[in-house]
Amino acid sequence: MFAIGLLSTIPAKSWGADSAECRTQKKFTAIVHGGAGAWDLPADEAKPYRDFITKTLKQVHDQLKNGRSAVDVVVMALSRLEDSPLFNAGRGAIANRDGEHELDASLMAGDSLQAGAVAAVKTVKNPIQLAQAVMQQSEHVLLVATGAETFARNHGFKAVKPQYFQVKNKKAYHRSPVAADKKYGTVGAAIWDRCGNLAAGTSTGGYRTKLPGRVGDSPIIGAGTYADNRSAAVSATGHGEYFIRYAVTHDISARMRYQKLSLAQAADTVIHKVLKKAGGSGGIVAVDYQGKPHAAFNSKAMLHGWIDHSGQAVVKFK
Ligand code: ASP
Repeated sequence: MFAIGLLSTIPAKSWGADSAECRTQKKFTAIVHGGAGAWDLPADEAKPYRDFITKTLKQVHDQLKNGRSAVDVVVMALSRLEDSPLFNAGRGAIANRDGEHELDASLMAGDSLQAGAVAAVKTVKNPIQLAQAVMQQSEHVLLVATGAETFARNHGFKAVKPQYFQVKNKKAYHRSPVAADKKYGTVGAAIWDRCGNLAAGTSTGGYRTKLPGRVGDSPIIGAGTYADNRSAAVSATGHGEYFIRYAVTHDISARMRYQKLSLAQAADTVIHKVLKKAGGSGGIVAVDYQGKPHAAFNSKAMLHGWIDHSGQAVVKFK
C-alpha cells in the first residue's frame, strides 16, 4: 500500500521534452563525467579528453535546445563516449582479469522512475542503447550476460566481435587508477531537459582486476545511476563495490527528499563523509530538479564537464 501511495505522484510513463507545454521552457542543463582517477596527464595527453568532452557537450546542448528529452540525450551522449577509444566504456572498455570485455550500463528516467540496465555483455557495441531498449521495450529493469545478448539480437542490435574492443589507446587509464591496482574511466551523464524532466545514465568496462562475471555499480539502479524528478539525476564513477554497498546515487536522492538537503549538501555528505570514511574512492555528477548541476569526488580527480542553455561548456579534471 505504501509503495502505491508513494508512486501515485509519479506518471506511469515518460514523455518527450518536445511537447507543447514544454516548448515555452527554454532552460536546460547537462553534466557528464569521463571517470574518476588521478588524471595527472601531461597537457598533450589531456587535450583529446578535454576536446572530446567539450564536443559532446556542444552536441548535447544542440539536441536539448531542439527539445529532445533528457532520456534520449543521455543515450546520445553516452553512445558517443562509448564509441570513442578514449573512455573505459563501449569501444575503449577495459578487459577483465581473463582478457575479456564485459560491459555494464544503465539508464533511468526521473519522471516515471522507469529504468533499464544490462550487465556483463560481450558483443554489444553500445550498452547504453541496450539499457534503453530494456527500459522501453521489456517489462524488466536488468538483463545480464547471455540473456541480455539474446534480447539484443531480438531487438536488432548487431553483435560486434571481441576484436572491436581491442584498441590500443587505453594508456591514460593505466596511469590514472583510483587505487593502485584498479583502473577507471567510466562515462556518465545527468540531464535536466526543457520539460523539467531528469534522466541519468552510466556505462563502463569495469576495471582490469575484476573477475569474469563481476558486476559493478554502473548497471545497478540506486548505486551507479539514479534519477527522480523530485530530487536529482545522478551518475557515479569509482570503486563500484563501495557504491553498491552504500547505494550512493539513491542515498543522495533520498537525503534530498527526506532531509530537505540541497543537491550539493546531500552529494558532498555522501561522497566526502560517508563513502570516504568507508574507504570508497570516486565521485558523482548530478543535476537537481531545478537544473542546478553539481560534481563531487573524493578521488584525486574526476574528468567532468557541464553545459546549460547559454551554450558555455566547462570541462574540468579536478
Ligand atoms: N564504477 C565502475 C565499476 O566499478 C568503474 C568506474 O567507475 O570507473 O565498475
